[in-house]
Amino acid sequence: METKRIIIEDRNHIKDEELKEAASILRSGGLVAFPTETVYGLGGNALDEDAARKIYAAKGRPSDNPLIAHVSCVEEVAPLVKEIPEAGRKLMEAFWPGPLTMIFPKSEKVPYGTTGGLDTVAIRMPDDPVANRLIALAGVPVAAPSANTSGRPSPTTADHVWQDMNGRIEMIIDGGPVGIGVESTIVDVSSAVPSVLRPGAITMEMLAEVLGEVSVDPAILGPLSADVRPKAPGMKYKHYAPKADLTLVEPGTGTERESGAEQVTGAEQKTGADRNTGADPETGLDETQLQAMICKVRELSREKIEAGYKVGVICTDESRGCYTDGEVRSIGARKSQASVAHNLYALLREFDDLGVDYIFSESFPKDHLGQAIMNRLSKAAGYKIVK
Ligand code: AMP
Ligand code: MG
Repeated sequence: METKRIIIEDRNHIKDEELKEAASILRSGGLVAFPTETVYGLGGNALDEDAARKIYAAKGRPSDNPLIAHVSCVEEVAPLVKEIPEAGRKLMEAFWPGPLTMIFPKSEKVPYGTTGGLDTVAIRMPDDPVANRLIALAGVPVAAPSANTSGRPSPTTADHVWQDMNGRIEMIIDGGPVGIGVESTIVDVSSAVPSVLRPGAITMEMLAEVLGEVSVDPAILGPLSADVRPKAPGMKYKHYAPKADLTLVEPGTGTERESGAEQVTGAEQKTGADRNTGADPETGLDETQLQAMICKVRELSREKIEAGYKVGVICTDESRGCYTDGEVRSIGARKSQASVAHNLYALLREFDDLGVDYIFSESFPKDHLGQAIMNRLSKAAGYKIVK
């Protein structure tokens, strides 16, 4: 199949003419990759089981890993769900359009082919103007997982999509690099206490402020034992993996800001400023902890370089000057979690292209957007973490 690539001239003044063909491809059961504010999505008609099958085939994704249906306005939700629970209503009002997906009991209209056989459906209303206008013009809800080959880092530019999807789908819409860079937060609002199934840019702290009480699915905190069935089926698959063997280096005891607690309430939440006494309020670590972490990354990478391997190092703008050996790349500024999230997947892909054998990475505090950053990095590392 020949994949057509179109470029959006001005994201802030989209002409319907530019998206007409893409909308028509979606309506007639074809696949179109498009930018969203989180990562690039691989879109197909969410109400068409054949289109869902094509999505699974193009990604090489197991068909029990359900797809998120994307809508362009709140009115498009009602036909897809049995009910909208109170928590869902509150979150829609607070965070839609935006990087928040919610799980609802599904209506008859949504085929099991889209939901991986589940009686629930995941729905999101993206904020990106290209995504939003495309869905509106298509006139159907659009199932859109990340537009990467299953298991590879999610695409944050149209070039990443091209690398994985050229020849497999009808069209790629190039709307430039995405803003956020990690996938949407997923919250299950179909249970009594809403539960976070995947962390993202709508953080625990933001959710707790609106809902008061939120629980965290254990699948986002660490590896699952084989007998546990995660609520988000995707959590059981190896995700976001670079080709090289990635190890994360974390500061030792006494510095873990990961609450470990299953519950976060509005009253208990910590702000960036008060999260660790004695620590730099912007980075959450004191100088000794930072230096120890950097020394460990240097030591581990040197060992592998001396053994003849090609090694990548993930550092930050602040620590760039501390490293001399290996392919050293900054993931962003430690003081800006948004910059780290934004660059994360592109950097993992860059190391794939460089053909490194091992990657050693600094780690980050797990509050705010840091929870999503560390969730993605830990999964990419297969939970290989050195203190
Ligand atoms: P992706 O499309 O790659 O962003 O991944 C979508 C994620 O949403 C997967 O990890 C799924 O497990 C999760 N998901 C989609 N639909 C449901 C659902 N009905 N219930 C629970 N999780 C879901
Ligand atoms: Mg994905």
